[in-house]
Amino acid sequence: MRMPIIVGNWKMNLNHLEAIALVQKLSYRLEKEVFDSAEVVVCPPFTSLRSVQTTIDSDKMKIQLGAQNVHQNDKGAFTGEISAPMLSKLNVKYTLVGHSERRTHFNETNEDVAAKIKSLRKFEITPILCVGETREERDNDQSLAVVEAQVREGLSAIAKSDIENVVVAYEPVWAIGAGQPATIEQANEMIFHIRSVLNSIKGSLGESVRVIYGASVDPGNANSFLSQDGIDGLLVGGASLDADDFSRLVISAIK
Ligand code: PEP
Repeated sequence: MRMPIIVGNWKMNLNHLEAIALVQKLSYRLEKEVFDSAEVVVCPPFTSLRSVQTTIDSDKMKIQLGAQNVHQNDKGAFTGEISAPMLSKLNVKYTLVGHSERRTHFNETNEDVAAKIKSLRKFEITPILCVGETREERDNDQSLAVVEAQVREGLSAIAKSDIENVVVAYEPVWAIGAGQPATIEQANEMIFHIRSVLNSIKGSLGESVRVIYGASVDPGNANSFLSQDGIDGLLVGGASLDADDFSRLVISAIK
């Protein structure tokens, strides 16, 4: 049984005081029973991780903590970077890797992504491997090949037996922040493809790995994605920045 997971990616938004307020409001709006049906994860910026962690701990919240990025080395002369052991010490359970904004603005390659995933797994953090094609790649019929390479290369540095401890997020780049998600058919087609790529890496991985959808998910469309058999969760950007929106989204998604 693959436990559904709904992840909020706050991107570069909210200072630590705003972050505390958001997680408190969110926790207040989500009844305990919600967490029997889905894991709920928030990924604040690095500067808010400690504040959100202590808020979660002291109020015994069931919301889990995630990070948005990690450096592949454990420590050293990498000014401005944050490592997996640092995240682990903050009780970070999930970390986004290879988000399209990092691939586009910070030139992250599949090789970087693989090294980051390897580092996270050493510290038992669950990577959320983000994959997805650009508009141009879709128009040129390259979507399946691009996503296949992102999955294969991104997972190439860890043992096959450890791949079931990774979440794969399909995020079509052209739909991120666009207000218009992929159609259910487009999401299902790619998620089916991702599962067959996983099966070709190691039989049965396609059934055990959680594969989720992200890009322009909102309270009105969340349920139509999460109710699909092959879609195990949602990665949410814009709609995760408001406690009312995100709690409505979570509640409607798991109905
Ligand atoms: C994202 O960038 O991960 C994302 C899903 O953004 P949005 O929900 O705003 O499209």
